[in-house]
Amino acid sequence: MAERIVLDGAAIATVDGPEHVEGHVVVKGDRIAAVGAGRAEPGPGERIDVRGCLITPGLVNTHHHLYQHATRGYAADAPLFEWLTRLYPVWAGLDEDIAHAAAAAGLARLALSGATTAADHHYVFPRGGGDVFGAVVAAAGSIGLRLHAVRGSMDRGRSRGGLPPDSLVEDPDAALAGTDAAIGRFHDPSPSSTVRVAVGPCSPFSASERLLRDCAELARARGVRLHTHLAETADEQRQCLAETGRTPVEYADDVGWLGPDVWLAHTVHLTAPEVARLAGTGTGSAHCPASNGRLGAGTAPLRELLDAGVPVGLGVDGAASNESGGLGEELRQALLTARARGGPAALSVREALHAATLGGARCLGRQEEIGSLRPGKLADLAVWRLDGLEHAGIEDPVAALVLGPPPPLRLLLRGGRPLVEDGRLSSVSEVDLARDLRTASTAIRARAERLEVAP
Ligand code: ZN
Repeated sequence: MAERIVLDGAAIATVDGPEHVEGHVVVKGDRIAAVGAGRAEPGPGERIDVRGCLITPGLVNTHHHLYQHATRGYAADAPLFEWLTRLYPVWAGLDEDIAHAAAAAGLARLALSGATTAADHHYVFPRGGGDVFGAVVAAAGSIGLRLHAVRGSMDRGRSRGGLPPDSLVEDPDAALAGTDAAIGRFHDPSPSSTVRVAVGPCSPFSASERLLRDCAELARARGVRLHTHLAETADEQRQCLAETGRTPVEYADDVGWLGPDVWLAHTVHLTAPEVARLAGTGTGSAHCPASNGRLGAGTAPLRELLDAGVPVGLGVDGAASNESGGLGEELRQALLTARARGGPAALSVREALHAATLGGARCLGRQEEIGSLRPGKLADLAVWRLDGLEHAGIEDPVAALVLGPPPPLRLLLRGGRPLVEDGRLSSVSEVDLARDLRTASTAIRARAERLEVAP
């Protein structure tokens, strides 16, 4: 594409500024140069007529496990702890080839549903599985999304009261060394970075107190962000109270896991003082409504979190607990879930779009770089087609985006580079990705069946 691109004639939802019924966005290099009403001033570069479309910031996915794309559909009716117990032995068969195929497929789904940034929480490092973390980073390079690669870890196997088999967990020293190495190898703190690393012991029920504390210390020494699962299910709540005498949020607070550099997946089971504590510490929440529904985990108190000022982003989670893996549809899911729980005022269509963009950027510490359409920010944007059968006639384009089915993409740009054009990935064949995903899914299932651990 040209160094300068002019998108003319679309409705525009900037998210943190005025909306335009018909306006323009000018992209120069990897940045947004101008946003406004009406047609852009004449100038050099490529002019694209995008009438009938809505331009929004590229969506930001704040929680995922891309490797799970190779294990979708398992334990279809099980709650979290049973689902984990059945899947961990299958995940022990992961290797770098399977991780690459699964991550590429998952990132492609995200791109085709409007996402330009993805956080991936990777905590499974089977012995002999090769460089699974590097495989996920490489997949992001081929599909083109910005990646926040969370180097996860677990050190509580079954012999220490955890759910994973002992063979799948790491020694805490090895987990810390591996995390430190991942930061050194991949983390790029520059504003236009396409790969950043965060530190992410998997959860309080699969990581020891020592690992949680040491990981928090490491992250802060290296200046990277912290991410974990917290307060997802009532079972977790009960186990945490029984083991520590504290709720998951109280426990996280005590071990250094609340703060403006932390974002937490789920935060479903919270008391009012805990919501206030998250807000007071600046801790972010990655809200994953489809996954919470799939596992019957409950519904997060979204209205309360937003009213308290907690940074809230959306996450697809999964893909073994959200087989779709698309972020576009999560806007609608978030809205329906919030209103089913809290009534019609629990989430507006614009709040849903905000969570999927700027809210997510806040969770990842990137609100100055991405998440809204403003001159000077990175040119990460989605051009949604709203002129087809699914959305035609809906006057408010943001309502069409959130309440209708995820629209096809006319264009998806990450830093001015096209990732999707006319509903198709720009750089990779979907047919090839699907073939590789089938091969990977078959391979990991065959390993599980050989070991007689397939659920
Ligand atoms: Zn998760």
